[in-house]
Amino acid sequence: MSVQVLDGKLLAEEIKKRLQDEVGFIHNETGCLPLIVNVMIGNNHAACAYANSQKKAAEQIGINYRQDILDKDISAEEIIAHIKSLNEDKNVNGILVHKPVPGHIDYPIIANHIDVSKDLEGVNIVNVGKMLLGQTKIIPCTPAAAIEHIKSTGIDLPGKEVVIVGHSEIVGKPLSLLLLAELATVTICHIGTSEAGKLVEHVGRADVLIVAVGKAGLIKGEWIKKGAVVIDIGINRDGDKIVGDVEFEAAKQRASFITPVPGGVGPVTVVMLMKNAIEAFRLQNKKG
Ligand code: NDP
Repeated sequence: MSVQVLDGKLLAEEIKKRLQDEVGFIHNETGCLPLIVNVMIGNNHAACAYANSQKKAAEQIGINYRQDILDKDISAEEIIAHIKSLNEDKNVNGILVHKPVPGHIDYPIIANHIDVSKDLEGVNIVNVGKMLLGQTKIIPCTPAAAIEHIKSTGIDLPGKEVVIVGHSEIVGKPLSLLLLAELATVTICHIGTSEAGKLVEHVGRADVLIVAVGKAGLIKGEWIKKGAVVIDIGINRDGDKIVGDVEFEAAKQRASFITPVPGGVGPVTVVMLMKNAIEAFRLQNKKG
């Protein structure tokens, strides 16, 4: 069986076309375009690169995008005041606070001040609860991108063994809820699983394996079940190369589908932010 490498750039382009149509429809109906504001605290190179890819995707789709760059030494109170002004601004449809934030800022506290209907990354605690209950269409972007990749393979998820490695608040945990909602049989592995020497066993059972840890080569190719779908979310620097958490070449010998790093989940993540901006616009303009 030959492996298919899941091209994130291609998938992102396909989704962008759909979103372009949706924005065109919104514009025809309302005369408005959604506006995203990215609040950046400080202005480092990595954050700017990611923000610029958001800006480019927004331009392609027809969404307005603004970066509000705040001083790196700003107080939490001043950031919250800025967010409140964005909450009240009817022209702003979506807000995100770029991570990581400086060490003196407590991100969850800031996140909870983002208006629930403008929270593009689903980080406000109300939206986290709504996701648990399946009551929101605004889904955290990286988990949403992983789901898009899985669905693009055509795999039928109900009853499939899905193993997630990594249980962070932004990736592993939300993914587990989304996959439960698809009726997959979900196992979540983490540091405790590794330390108990059980990671190999769980990985070997996975029909769909999703890895979000941040450790290059953590998952050995030989562990993977033949024919598995492998979604590698990890991003690691290896000299001048970027690599994932899965041994890519060895995993290709066993997987049926696999995402590359870079060029897999990353490009789709950016587009999911745009999708959320459209959902947020709709939520705010819902009649009745
Ligand atoms: P975190 O550091 O928040 O979470 C890492 C998770 O991996 C934790 O749950 C941790 O468990 C677990 N873990 C650590 N070591 C092991 C191990 N040896 N075996 C099993 N589990 C382990 O990272 P994020 O979730 O924020 O990100 C994960 C990776 O995904 C990173 O490389 C990041 O750069 C990348 N990423 C990629 C995105 C994209 O769009 N492509 C977006 C977001 C992240 P514990 O906490 O118990 O130690």
